[in-house]
Amino acid sequence: MKQWIGIAASSGIVIGPVWIYSPVKIVIVRKEINDHSAEWERLQLAITSTSEKIAVLKTQALQNIGEQEAAIFDAHMMFLKDPAFLESINQGIFQSSLNAEAAVDDAAVNFEKMLLALDDPYFRERAQDIRDVAGQLIASLMGVEATGKGPVQPAIVLAEDLSPSDTIQFDKSRLLGLATRRGGPTSHTVILARSLGIPAAVSVPFPIAELKNGISAILDGAAGSLLINPDPAVLAAAQQTRQVFLNKAETYLNQSHQPAVTLDGKRVEVCANIGSAADASLALEAGAEGVGLFRTEFMYMDCAELPTEDAQIQIYRQLFAIMDHRPVTVRTVDIGGDKEIPYLGLVREANPFLGWRGIRMISERPDIIESQLRALLQAGTEVDLRIMFPMVSNIGEIEQARQLLEKVRRDLDDEGKQAAAKVQFGIMVEVPSIALIARHAAKLVDFFSIGTNDLTQYTLAVDRGNERVASLASPYHPAVLHLINQTIQAGHDGGKWVGMCGEFAGDPLAAPLLLGLGLDEFSASASLLPALKQALRQCRTADCYSLAEQALRLDKAESVRMLCQEFAQTLA
Ligand code: PEP
Ligand code: MG
Repeated sequence: MKQWIGIAASSGIVIGPVWIYSPVKIVIVRKEINDHSAEWERLQLAITSTSEKIAVLKTQALQNIGEQEAAIFDAHMMFLKDPAFLESINQGIFQSSLNAEAAVDDAAVNFEKMLLALDDPYFRERAQDIRDVAGQLIASLMGVEATGKGPVQPAIVLAEDLSPSDTIQFDKSRLLGLATRRGGPTSHTVILARSLGIPAAVSVPFPIAELKNGISAILDGAAGSLLINPDPAVLAAAQQTRQVFLNKAETYLNQSHQPAVTLDGKRVEVCANIGSAADASLALEAGAEGVGLFRTEFMYMDCAELPTEDAQIQIYRQLFAIMDHRPVTVRTVDIGGDKEIPYLGLVREANPFLGWRGIRMISERPDIIESQLRALLQAGTEVDLRIMFPMVSNIGEIEQARQLLEKVRRDLDDEGKQAAAKVQFGIMVEVPSIALIARHAAKLVDFFSIGTNDLTQYTLAVDRGNERVASLASPYHPAVLHLINQTIQAGHDGGKWVGMCGEFAGDPLAAPLLLGLGLDEFSASASLLPALKQALRQCRTADCYSLAEQALRLDKAESVRMLCQEFAQTLA
């Protein structure tokens, strides 16, 4: 038995086998070949070995998961034997004298394009299968292991690090939990885990090279710990803790559809942060009263090319239908930082979090944001739609965003297309400069939404993805607190409402403090909402105001946190 402690990231305790994610970045080298038959022979061997691997995966899936999951592997097998696919590879090798890796890659790209162009969603989804199969085939040709869709049976995924693009490809039904050696607690991978209600810990110093798939482990997301090969007594204790956690979660969940009303009758709006239309259903189940942040970049990461206006309209309509007239706040795409989207051809930057991301794209690539706004205005004619822009750092950007929104509205009008008339226009306050001049910004917006993940990162100069400095990144830091306070005051003085969609808003310990600072709307990952609502219900606003006043006089993050802890003990 061995245990390692890292940073708590998404609470919950889970027991199960581990699965080690070791991504291999496959770089395909294109070569001209002379011996065409030998190359074809190499391909045949790769097909045989890939097909054997797929057969094993299918058997495991049938035994451990079910027929529906196993059917994925039938589709993979079908592509591996598809005569048109093989013919296309054959032409690459024999006619273009390409090495097999490049020929497979070219054939897959062509097939993928063809499938994505079809109307039928079933065939469009098959594009993912062809990508998977081609990836496996190329990995086999190059003699490396392909990682595919993650574990084939439910497991705790262990990794050196996980980017959102790594995580997004895993089949979520098989993710029991996530633990990484690197990364900070507000990384988007962690946020994905929270919205799925999966326990996660980051910056856990386990020796990844020494661990093997299948070892039994206990991951405690609230403690940030990973334990392997537990003794029977430890296992029994963990099972008990898990049961207590599940029971408490169930109690909160049962009450989560009730509004969050404080003891003195103040109703607080509690919304969810989502990354896809599908997340919206989970959010409603968790008691969300609206969407406070739709991180639309995941929608772009899910596609092989820039989604068309029509495709976007479909996604937004689907989301609005699920939310059924509840407020929905959509954030325009925030690519950059930790997100890579191959088809955008972004240039690698030395400091991506300080680089060309969020609203900064508006000048160079107005087409991307314009098509997003066009889709939103057309899809949102009947709903309470709020659009907000990320990474705003100066007033000029707000003016530019407003102008673009107006232009899009005029264009749609000229084209005789219906556009949403009553859209609220807002910005994220996540860069200290805009928090400091929030008084000016308030005149130009309908609302602010405070993004504490980035606000903390930029105020404290702490890279939110870097585990070595993660312990410094506390939103309880008085500097962050003062910026939050200043933003709320400036918003209210200008007659505007102020929400928060950074992870701080989902911290039940911080809820009384944020309420005391005057926050109007809390928005957090779905799995955090039941406990958040419960925390708000225990508050009396007058006490929260004095808590906030005291907190603003303190000089250290630890002192603010301690004050909140003492306050929590006086409740209920
Ligand atoms: C934030 O920065 O607090 C935020 C909500 O945005 P993201 O986490 O997507 O950067
Ligand atoms: Mg942000």
